[in-house]
Amino acid sequence: MANQRKTTPADAVASTFAATPLALADPALFRGFSYVDGRWTAGANSRTFRVSNPADGSHLGDVASLSGDDSQMAVDAAQTAFGIWSSLLPQQRSKILRRWFELILDNKEDLARIMVLEQGKPLSEARGEIDYAASFVEFFAEEAKRPNIESVTSHLPDAEVEIWREPVGVAALITPWNFPSAMLTRKASAALAAGCTVVAHPSAQTPFSALALAELSERAGFPAGAFNVVTGVAPVVVEPWMKDKRVRAVSFTGSTDIGKLLYRQGADTVKRLVLELGGHAPFILFADANLDQAIDEAIKAKFATSGQDCLGANRFLVERPVYEAFCTRFSQAAAKLSVGIGMDDPDIGPLMNEQAVAKQEEHVADALARGARLLTGGKRHRAGRLFFEPTVLADVPADALIMHEETFGPVAAIAAFDTEDEVMQRANDTEYGLVAYLHTQDPRRIYRASRALQFGMVAVNRTKVTGAPIPFGGMKQSGLEREGSRLGMEAFTEVKYVCRDWA
Ligand code: NAP
Repeated sequence: MANQRKTTPADAVASTFAATPLALADPALFRGFSYVDGRWTAGANSRTFRVSNPADGSHLGDVASLSGDDSQMAVDAAQTAFGIWSSLLPQQRSKILRRWFELILDNKEDLARIMVLEQGKPLSEARGEIDYAASFVEFFAEEAKRPNIESVTSHLPDAEVEIWREPVGVAALITPWNFPSAMLTRKASAALAAGCTVVAHPSAQTPFSALALAELSERAGFPAGAFNVVTGVAPVVVEPWMKDKRVRAVSFTGSTDIGKLLYRQGADTVKRLVLELGGHAPFILFADANLDQAIDEAIKAKFATSGQDCLGANRFLVERPVYEAFCTRFSQAAAKLSVGIGMDDPDIGPLMNEQAVAKQEEHVADALARGARLLTGGKRHRAGRLFFEPTVLADVPADALIMHEETFGPVAAIAAFDTEDEVMQRANDTEYGLVAYLHTQDPRRIYRASRALQFGMVAVNRTKVTGAPIPFGGMKQSGLEREGSRLGMEAFTEVKYVCRDWA
């Protein structure tokens, strides 16, 4: 579908500004304006906010800060586009999504570099995130062709019954800074595949990745208004969406506190909600596990994304016979991790902001005050203001903050256990239920523990479990619904039942 490209004069300024400092192969991917109704816009008030590189605090660019009225206009555009987008053949929607997927991969290096500069993660992790982000678009480009039509044999005489899935309408997507590309494509490609149109708010700390994806969506040929990215102060942009009855579904990834707020705000207009919230993953190591493998996996489970990962292991619960060996070898491996700026591709980059670093300090100080042993790290890293040393604490008591709160950084807490019942009870003693890691060689224990763990995902003898075809999501206060897999489209569809008399 041909899509008329429209720009404001200010748009040209943004591209020029970006070209030199970032050295991108395609400087037009670096956008400083919101993308609404197929236009790049500074909003009615032309306000901006500043985005900084967490590695050194340098100024990356200013981005449009839209008003509540501007944000409402994005819903107007999405509502109008819904009529066009939802009436295309599924194959036509699939083709445009497929084109978007190809463009994301064609521009992988630029997208990864933009992400490193605004988010701080190591370059190879950023490249991995672009692959992961693209995989959702590819997956849902395929699913778009298979709207879930179920067939049921009629239970009534002389009647024919049909069950259809229809797109709900406009979907609002709100995404966090730790995975600024993948969290957006995981939601947007599922919603668009279902036939919905999208208004999206990326974190103000990492807006450039989302805006680059918007630029590529335009090149892919989405009709104007089908995919809108609205930058600005979160409550200013998002609250009008929560009140607007045309917004039928809201998909949010972020903290449990903001998730609860949106749950309350969505009640008045009975919105469908997808909530992907915080985690507090236990890493459970039994004495019969392969210790070498467990230590490698423990390093990944704790320190990937510099520890700023909802899947990050927060609590290491280790059976007593291997406790000291694990503490020694895990802390030695952690101490060897390199720390530095993302472009140099270290193991650990900077944290996102000052509050994140302060939280590491708070959790370390609290654990030590309650009798924990510091095995390595424990303080800010000399690489810069937002860097923290890879840190390992042993003998951490159950009442320490780190055993209950999401740490979201490179600090690991270890405690010993004696029995399977005890460790299952401790692992489940949390309101979070996103992922649990389990290491044991005993097949019966694997079965028992996988059943007993109250988590949406259980990783057995490995860390990486994510991917587009699997249902990602948490139990309890880690969220509602699932993303990825066929289930990822459910919240964006309504079920309609039709019963026809043919006598
Ligand atoms: P956050 O503070 O809850 O922010 C998430 C998003 O909500 C951002 O776009 C943020 O915008 C926006 N927001 C903030 N205040 C808002 C308000 N009053 N109304 C509407 N939107 C608002 O979370 P975060 O610090 O960015 O991300 C870290 C959290 O995300 C962690 O808890 C982590 O576990 C969770 N997470 C979960 C998953 C999962 O799939 N389960 C994946 C990744 C992360 P601004 O940033 O511009 O304020």
